[in-house]
Amino acid sequence: MTEMLNLDPAITDPERIVAQVLDRCMRQSDSHVHIEPCETGYRLRCRQGDELRPAGTLSRSNGERLVAAARALARLSDPRIPEDGYFVVQSVAYWVTTIPVLEGQALVISRGLPDRYPDLDQVLSDHQKSAYFEALSRGKGLILLTGPMATDPAQAALGYHGLQFLQQLNGPDYPVATVEWAARGNLANVTRVVVSHREGITFHGSLKRLAEFGTKAFRVGELHDLATAEEAMRLTTQRRRIIVAGIPGTTDAAGALVRLVDMGVPVSAVADSVKLVLALRVLRRLCSACHKPVHVPRYSLLASGFPEDEVGDSLTLWEADRQGCKECTGGFSGLRYICQTMPMSKGVRAALIGGFQNVNDIDEAASADGARTLKQEILEAVRSGSIQLADADLAR
Ligand SMILES: [Zn+2]
Repeated sequence: MTEMLNLDPAITDPERIVAQVLDRCMRQSDSHVHIEPCETGYRLRCRQGDELRPAGTLSRSNGERLVAAARALARLSDPRIPEDGYFVVQSVAYWVTTIPVLEGQALVISRGLPDRYPDLDQVLSDHQKSAYFEALSRGKGLILLTGPMATDPAQAALGYHGLQFLQQLNGPDYPVATVEWAARGNLANVTRVVVSHREGITFHGSLKRLAEFGTKAFRVGELHDLATAEEAMRLTTQRRRIIVAGIPGTTDAAGALVRLVDMGVPVSAVADSVKLVLALRVLRRLCSACHKPVHVPRYSLLASGFPEDEVGDSLTLWEADRQGCKECTGGFSGLRYICQTMPMSKGVRAALIGGFQNVNDIDEAASADGARTLKQEILEAVRSGSIQLADADLAR
């Protein structure tokens, strides 16, 4: 019989709700807490190595409070789909992985970020990979990455592969560094800084100091504030540095550029430093062994954003077989990454400097120069059968 843990009803702060449970059930040697709904409420188990041991139970209402608090901290938004995110408490990163189950939400909280990141080929098409490597090999400039929290592992992977590519190009002693909220796993020949505002280790300060030490290329978790963004602009335009940096809180490539301007960076600095923007999405991938064809009529396709000239009377697309098969769970198998790439073309540059009104002006300029919008990339994934049309809206 395992102990029923009680949560203090007076505590409403999500961080303190989660901390109550982690403090009471996690031992120093534990790496994970599993939180799962059961008949009587929620069951907690802790993992040490491959061993799972019971760590108590929660009433249904307390379990729901805990799940809601962990989801809020990790900034997860959609309980209908499996999601990943993380939060940082006292300089320790906790990774949250969720899955919707019959009785509600099951989730796992683990200390530190996952060891495994997606491969570059899972995230970028061949054409997009060439664009990314081409931007890196220019020897200076800023490359922006954006997308929801769930794409953080993919953003980290893009950053590391970029640094590796530069070391292949310039030799293994080419000095590279990462500046991030949390770091896990070993990366050979990479200087790594973990940001901790409590201890005075900031994005801005770390970037500046590492550049003084001679670092040539950086992966920066996020351009956290104006000082960091301005330092990144200065290093990439005046000091021949290469920076691959995350922009939080934006949904697509044009949004990332506008976010920098909104932060207070002069448009000319954005236009001069940024070479390429990559915007990411991640969705559940349809199982190709059991997916079912579905005939979608013209009006639905148009409503979903398919262009008039591509749509006849109907299109045959694919949807999940909820029964699933031995290859999958409920018709889905793994994750499908979608990426939009927007180079700083002549048109985008002109739109930026010429006083754009909103993100649409930048999107139109990019499209006129041959770039594809995030929506086009998402519809392409629908057309190819790797995601279902019903999920496409979740990606926007
Ligand atoms: Zn299947």
